[in-house]
Amino acid sequence: MEPIAMNDMLRKAVEVADEVLFPAAAEVDSSGRIPDGHFDRLAEDGFYGLVAPVDLGGPGVEFEDLLQIVETLAGGCLATTFTWLQHHGVVMGLAMTSNSALRDEYLGRAVRGELRGGAAFSGAIQTPPRIRATRSGDGWTLNGQIPFVSGWGLVDMLHVSAVDEDDNVISCLVDAATGDGITGVHPLTLAAAQATNTVRLELCDFRVPDSRVTTCAKRGEFLAGMALSLRIDSSLPLGLTERAATLAEAAGQGDTANSMRAEARALRAKFDAAMSDPASLPALRAASSELAVRASASCVVAAGSSALLSTHTAQRLARESLFTLVVASRPAVKSELLRLMNDQTHMLAHVLQGDT
Ligand SMILES: Cc1cc2nc3c(=O)[nH]c(=O)nc-3n(C[C@H](O)[C@H](O)[C@H](O)COP(=O)(O)OP(=O)(O)OC[C@H]3O[C@@H](n4cnc5c(N)ncnc54)[C@H](O)[C@@H]3O)c2cc1C
Repeated sequence: MEPIAMNDMLRKAVEVADEVLFPAAAEVDSSGRIPDGHFDRLAEDGFYGLVAPVDLGGPGVEFEDLLQIVETLAGGCLATTFTWLQHHGVVMGLAMTSNSALRDEYLGRAVRGELRGGAAFSGAIQTPPRIRATRSGDGWTLNGQIPFVSGWGLVDMLHVSAVDEDDNVISCLVDAATGDGITGVHPLTLAAAQATNTVRLELCDFRVPDSRVTTCAKRGEFLAGMALSLRIDSSLPLGLTERAATLAEAAGQGDTANSMRAEARALRAKFDAAMSDPASLPALRAASSELAVRASASCVVAAGSSALLSTHTAQRLARESLFTLVVASRPAVKSELLRLMNDQTHMLAHVLQGDT
């Protein structure tokens, strides 16, 4: 493997992933519970403030190091990393808001990880939106459903987004607790990463004063602003791929491990070249998950029948690769994935028919 430029945060990420997250990942998977110590360690090491600007307390990591850090942690434990990753929407929302009183009240604590947050935008991006904001008095009234919110019971605050009658997305910081408008919390049973504590939330006449609003943006702009997250979210399947390569190597399948790593390197390079062209990002995001699916399935094959034991890492990685196929996906990513899979089906059909 090519040497990685190690900054301090990256070195700490490798330590946390190898010494804390990966050794506990099978237990986290089977129990559906992430030990509090995981999040405390990420906070102590400064990972909750990773995306904050330096003048607001961030560690000042380069974008490529940020991606490598997310990959490294995801290869340690996907459930912990996905739950922690949602926090950065809160930090970014607070760092960018013109609501200086809100920023002053919460940003420092969010950067230090004393206050932990989750994201709740899935009701605003679906068509039609599932959560609506209506102007009333000095604030907004929110009604509807947020179909997926991870970190329930693990986070203190949620960055909730809702759509108003003029198609603006109103985002606000709310307490992650039931009562006074959060009328339903429905835990979801997942095929992978159950420990993310993902729920569906129902909001009924939930009052949000203007003092809690971070941003208000046209829905089109809001969705366009999410392009960068396609690159960051791709670090989850790339992290699983690297873990699969390590496993394949340990099972004596060095060639398979080398090809997985070569494909991952090629994808990272294509991403680097594509960052100024957001339209090309969905295809690369799709390719990252497709690679993780193939890499983890190869690991199952390499490990043999024991891979099917419920505690085996190979089957866990395979289930987690499915998680990355749909989580934080976008319509364009879905079409690219289906196209990739159709191409493979056609190729296989040609092979079976004896075509070249
Ligand atoms: C286990 C799990 C945990 C999750 N945790 C969180 C979380 O913590 N916070 C959170 O906010 N979300 C979370 N999500 C939601 C995740 O971000 C969504 O799955 C993703 O946004 C795509 O939604 P979908 O697969 O339901 O969309 P699809 O089934 O692909 O689409 C449903 C509808 O929404 C439209 N749509 C979807 N995305 C867009 C878009 N970007 N632009 C325009 N139209 C769009 C589609 O066109 C379609 O009409 C989680 C999902 C899962 C499965």
